[in-house]
Amino acid sequence: MIKSLVNKHVLEFDHYVVPYNNYKYVLNANESPYNIFEYIMDDYLNKLKTYQPNLYPDPMATPLRKKLANYTGVNPENIICGNGSDEIITMIFSTFLGQDQVVVSHSPTFDMYSMGTKLAKGNFICVNDDDDLKIQSDKLIETANANHAKLLFLCAPNNPTGYALPKEEIIKILDNTSCIVVIDEAYGEFSDISCIDLIHKYDNIIILKTLSKAFGLAGLRLGYAISTEETINCIYKVKQPYNLNSMSQLLGELVLDHMPLIQGFIQNVKSERDRLATELLAITEFIVYPSDANFILVKYKKNSSKLNEYLLSHGLFIKCFSGTHYLANYFRITVSTKEINELLLKTIKEGIALEK
Ligand code: PMP
Repeated sequence: MIKSLVNKHVLEFDHYVVPYNNYKYVLNANESPYNIFEYIMDDYLNKLKTYQPNLYPDPMATPLRKKLANYTGVNPENIICGNGSDEIITMIFSTFLGQDQVVVSHSPTFDMYSMGTKLAKGNFICVNDDDDLKIQSDKLIETANANHAKLLFLCAPNNPTGYALPKEEIIKILDNTSCIVVIDEAYGEFSDISCIDLIHKYDNIIILKTLSKAFGLAGLRLGYAISTEETINCIYKVKQPYNLNSMSQLLGELVLDHMPLIQGFIQNVKSERDRLATELLAITEFIVYPSDANFILVKYKKNSSKLNEYLLSHGLFIKCFSGTHYLANYFRITVSTKEINELLLKTIKEGIALEK
């Protein structure tokens, strides 16, 4: 009975469950290995003294946006905050996408672009990466123009490949298409490229950012978008009034006052990433893809299930693409601390040796 009342296009969906497991070492979701609150406990407890959960949160997240503006070098009017950048992606679809309109992106990439398109009853078209898992910008331009795309999503650096599309190519896409170009910089802090400055030149560009990765605040669900004031004001029209809870706003503001600590964590992750990549390259059963993010994609030259089982049995949970997935037998490994990365490497080598 109930099913006959559910929206038809929703029935076609699987229940989207993100794997969530209590393994000892969770390296599957590109989170930070650092908990900043362990370093700033006094400030944290002090902030909580004046916290008032009986009141609704600031709908405009004003102090938080001021701090984010300061960090990113734009004005607060150029920023809208969301309950994770996931929520901002949904707001972008609600603002710009009509039924049957086209969204173009590259593949493989972050699932929420295709999922959001389907929920908005749009058509999602993807352009496969080349054999080296590099984004094909000319094909993206062709596809967007041929299909009169409304939105084009670029993930830079890309999840799950770690590939950072060069800025010249992003500019080429902007110069040769007329759709709204969303540049998802969720992992931007781990690369040398940012397109934030381009909001002063292009009025069809939206940059997505998050405090979930480099800032280590995934549990607070703090995401934001940067664009022209006009575009941000259009997105505000679909925002729920109290979308971002007051505890997250408060703690986000606090963390933004501790940038040197955050910069240190980012540096640690980048140098561990490069060290881990070198170690993985020495394992002949793997093909390793260069990464500008806080994770590394590797292709296992055999079936990945046994090795994955072995890692899980040792409490190590990395992202294993299996079955018929485009990336079957690939692993995406979140970069962690030196100790945990060492444990992972040792366990991978043991698992591979057992298969010989
Ligand atoms: N964009 C990309 C590319 C991601 O990988 C993620 C999280 N996995 C997000 C956006 C969403 O981040 P959040 O909602 O935590 O801000």
